[in-house]
Amino acid sequence: MKKLLFMLIPLLLLCGCQKQEQTQTAYFFDTVVSITLPQDADPTLFDEAWALCTTYQQAFDRFSENSELARLLPEIPAVVSAETAQILTEATRLSEATDGAFDIRLGDLSDLWNQQTLPDADTIQKALEVAQATTLTIEGNFVTQRGAGSLDLGGIAKGYVTDRLAELFREAGCASAILNLGGNVYCLGNKKGEPFKVGIDTLMNQPNPPVLGLSDQAAVTAGVTQRYKMINGVRYHHIIDPKTGMPAKTDLLSATIIADSATLADVLSTACIVLGQKKAEELLKQFPDVSAVLVLENGTVTTVRDPLFVNTVQK
Ligand code: AMP
Ligand code: MG
Repeated sequence: MKKLLFMLIPLLLLCGCQKQEQTQTAYFFDTVVSITLPQDADPTLFDEAWALCTTYQQAFDRFSENSELARLLPEIPAVVSAETAQILTEATRLSEATDGAFDIRLGDLSDLWNQQTLPDADTIQKALEVAQATTLTIEGNFVTQRGAGSLDLGGIAKGYVTDRLAELFREAGCASAILNLGGNVYCLGNKKGEPFKVGIDTLMNQPNPPVLGLSDQAAVTAGVTQRYKMINGVRYHHIIDPKTGMPAKTDLLSATIIADSATLADVLSTACIVLGQKKAEELLKQFPDVSAVLVLENGTVTTVRDPLFVNTVQK
């Protein structure tokens, strides 16, 4: 049995790094984080941004004994930070909105599928039952977990942190900024009056891949070719169907969501992969300010509520 683990960053910033800009890069949340600010921005803003990333990484990392998630003990109310309460509240709200396609209770299942060997059906079923029996009650900064499911914020944390960083720069009076947290992209403001350009990797080696124009917007891609392993010729990717506990069987290779909120875009992109094209299109009807680019298994690229393209896109 051969295991290969691949990771692709599917959104490509096309703005290039110019003399009028300053960029710093660091490694957080298991991925590369890059921040570009105007040349005249106060460089200590980078330090503030990395400090925020450090705080959030510590708070949200389910593998760390010191994380805030680790404080949530079954049945006992735990005091968490305002941000942890907020991300858990958002995750719970969006889980309902996606009819359960987005579900932060699947940590144990992700771990099972991350092992070298495939989990057996019984083990999957047991982990799924534990996950489904887990509930969260959030009252202010008090969070009570009932049930022993392992909470996993991997499908929302990068989007949430992107929004907090954008807020930091906006409040500091930055006219523009580009944030890229492993493909969770947010463009604050614009580039000399024009939207920033962000290309989408359609995975089809297209000569002219679609290029989005973004201003004060996020674009987040989830896909089955981002993180996966091949075992005996079968692709096992990292997005779990909460109904089956298995990597989602879907007709989508990737879903890119464009929205004002990176948190929302992060969650919806993951949920769309679980749901597949038809149900994803249904889901997105609930979110009139959101647009999407879906890449189907057969290579077709379709859009929902046409995003702004700054090139022509083949549909
Ligand atoms: P993303 O890369 O944003 O699509 O998120 C995928 C990550 O979210 C995975 O690596 C898991 O940590 C977690 N995850 C997997 N399946 C789900 C799901 N159905 N709902 C919420 N989070 C998930
Ligand atoms: Mg996501």
